[in-house]
Amino acid sequence: MKLTVLGSNGWFPANGQLTASYMLEYNGSLIIIDAGTGIANFYLHKDILEKYDTVHVILSHYHFDHSVGIVYLNRWMTDKQLCFYFPAGKYYHSGAIGFENVIFAKDYNSGSLKGLAKRVSVFEYDENGFTINRIKIKTFALKHSNTSFALNFDGKFLYCTDTSVDENVLKENINCALIAHECWGKTDISGGRHTDFESLALVLNKIGYAGKLLLIHKNPDLSANDYKEMTQNRQDIAVAMDNDVIEI
Ligand SMILES: [Zn+2]
Ligand SMILES: [Zn+2]
Repeated sequence: MKLTVLGSNGWFPANGQLTASYMLEYNGSLIIIDAGTGIANFYLHKDILEKYDTVHVILSHYHFDHSVGIVYLNRWMTDKQLCFYFPAGKYYHSGAIGFENVIFAKDYNSGSLKGLAKRVSVFEYDENGFTINRIKIKTFALKHSNTSFALNFDGKFLYCTDTSVDENVLKENINCALIAHECWGKTDISGGRHTDFESLALVLNKIGYAGKLLLIHKNPDLSANDYKEMTQNRQDIAVAMDNDVIEI
């Protein structure tokens, strides 16, 4: 499993860091997790894109810092098949169709979801999980202003963003080799909508998590140094930076 960071910020691009997007290469499949402005970093990873005819794109939720890069995809996908996996309508008013109607509203965007690639398919997922080729993806609904989903890939890697710390979800994923978890600050500054480092470290310690931790969805108001100070150079914790490559 190889994870390439395309965009490691939350909310907006800052400090040279784009918003949420990650590229996962595993078992012959290419999976893009979230599609924020980080999609624009595709141009640095053409060698990876060239290897695959099909690209799978999963959104954890529809907030624009995780989804706006979808409108950039046709730059790289004209000869490919694109498969989207969007949170189901039952968690929102209208799910994938509502999202498409907003992001490709006729008066504001000349493109369309179907026009992004040679072939485009759209699946909606829920809390029962789904599979991509033979890869099992477990999904966990998180507490956020709109439902966001944590995603577990074959029991090895957990992607968990836009949530307060959820002890139950983390417990269920304790055997992962890597947890990529959002970290919005040292202490809670979000009123419980996001994760602070102190609460996350406390819960992971309490449940006895022994794998590695990657801090993602960085707060654009904090610098790389702020994050370094936060983690106090702990060997088992890394702070995601755009275009980092992580072997899982
Ligand atoms: Zn976000
Ligand atoms: Zn969000």
